[in-house]
Amino acid sequence: MRALLDRARQQVANLVGVDPGQVIFTSGGTEANVTALAPAHAGIANDAAHCFVSAIEHPSVLGGGRFPAERVSILSVSSDGVIDCTQLRADLTAFVTASPDTPFLVAVMAANNETGALQPVAEIASIVHELGGKLHCDGVQAAGKIPLDLDALGADMMSLSAHKIGGPQGVGALVLGRSLAQLNDRLISGGGQEHRWRAGTENVSGIIGFGIAADAAVKALARTSNLQDMRDRLETEVMAIAPDAVVIAQTVERLANTMCFAVDGMSAENLVIAFDLAGVAVSAGAACSSGKVERSHVLEAMGVEAALANGAVRVSLGHDTSDRDIELFLTAWRDIHARFVARRQAA
Ligand code: PLP
Repeated sequence: MRALLDRARQQVANLVGVDPGQVIFTSGGTEANVTALAPAHAGIANDAAHCFVSAIEHPSVLGGGRFPAERVSILSVSSDGVIDCTQLRADLTAFVTASPDTPFLVAVMAANNETGALQPVAEIASIVHELGGKLHCDGVQAAGKIPLDLDALGADMMSLSAHKIGGPQGVGALVLGRSLAQLNDRLISGGGQEHRWRAGTENVSGIIGFGIAADAAVKALARTSNLQDMRDRLETEVMAIAPDAVVIAQTVERLANTMCFAVDGMSAENLVIAFDLAGVAVSAGAACSSGKVERSHVLEAMGVEAALANGAVRVSLGHDTSDRDIELFLTAWRDIHARFVARRQAA
């Protein structure tokens, strides 16, 4: 059993260029995020520690984890959905000037789950460290889709989730940077598992699956991929069919597999159903874990108007997406959009 766990730990470590001893298995990305976001990880244990999270984080980060709400500040993003480093420096400088002895932790994601927009993590790490803080990076969405190297990024902690890289649900990892060396505040105390940082008998089958998925992801990253060409072609065609369509965050560097688009006045819920009836699975940009479509806090933070944001859907491509799948999608889109235009004209 130990050998199987060790192997999986090595495989997950390889995904982000760390040593296996830096990987702590958790029940998923959510638990990794909440474990990381503890006042004790801002530096020396200090109850007054402060947490900064970007406005586009996953809900498990957005709330500041185990920081009290009054010690959580939100960092702004540009209209393209990228964390604004100039503003970040200004916000942190103002904080450090006002509270020079208060440790702080900043949490940013490597890639956004709704728009795919890549975040300038290395630049953020250098600003945060220069000003004396620690950085946590939610790598859940980026892992396996772009090369991630924890040391090169400079983050002090990173969260991963197996099911986002094709592994099983209910398993993830918190990866500790060499700078942190140990977790100061364990989430679950009890037995000696996971270096005592996360007690409880390990989810062995889940962890093995995570390791296998991580290994496959590392190998896939080493191969050249035509995903971005396929995604760009898809976007061009979507807009050729519907010139009123807007691709969200189109001008910034994004994950190659992600496309988020909307048409003013179209409802995302209706779009998901219409695509589903045509045999195509897309998700509402703002679909939450309960399956309900709520207003997207990501698009709101980007300043996207409600009438457009309410129609945002996310299309995810994979290495097994074929030209036939793209054709099926475009045929459905042509039909759905034509019906939308006809209804609008009739109204
Ligand atoms: N962080 C991001 C960016 C995510 O997209 C998700 C899940 O969608 C999570 C964290 C949570 O991961 P998990 O589902 O493993 O708890």
